[in-house]
Amino acid sequence: MGALIVLTGPSGVGKGTLLRSLIQRHPDLYLSVSVTTRSPRPGEIDGKNYYFVTRNVFERMVANGELLEWAEFAGNFYGTPRYAVEEQIRCGRRVILEIELQGARQIRKTFPDALQIFILPPSLLELEYRIRSRAQDSEDAIVRRLQSARSEIEAANEFDTCIVNDDFAKALDRIEETLFATAAC
Ligand code: 5GP
Repeated sequence: MGALIVLTGPSGVGKGTLLRSLIQRHPDLYLSVSVTTRSPRPGEIDGKNYYFVTRNVFERMVANGELLEWAEFAGNFYGTPRYAVEEQIRCGRRVILEIELQGARQIRKTFPDALQIFILPPSLLELEYRIRSRAQDSEDAIVRRLQSARSEIEAANEFDTCIVNDDFAKALDRIEETLFATAAC
């Protein structure tokens, strides 16, 4: 039987890097590719990092019920395409959603058995440093992301497990332990 795994945590906490390593180690896991109205960052590839769509297309997907969950985050829209996720779960694969807090809350209602993991930064200061050194966002986007980070971190205790990403290797090990300790469910 397949199962849904939700990975949430403030922007810049390193979820994407952790997930890339996790998938390399466990190619049997399926990482859902989200749809977004955000513009691609340098190096991001359509269909791999995200499906980059216009606001019109996104709204049509919402209206047609094509998204499992969706949210507005820092001025852009993000959503999980329903079909691919449901198909993979039907095939017995474990599916990972890397999504923000509002989306995680929606999934908690529709998939109460989903395993919900929250990734915490060592501190807010360190998070700000990571977002700034990524140098991919405008000052306005950085401020909005840091504001969201504060409220997301306050909600961390809603999740099944919280993992602090202070040491990359240790955080990755803890994600693996969490996933495979519950694999028999
Ligand atoms: P970024 O713009 O940095 O790629 O992503 C911003 C935030 O949107 C991150 O916290 C990321 O996890 C979240 N996100 C990415 N895809 C989705 C999605 O499909 N749904 C929701 N709710 N959040 C998403």
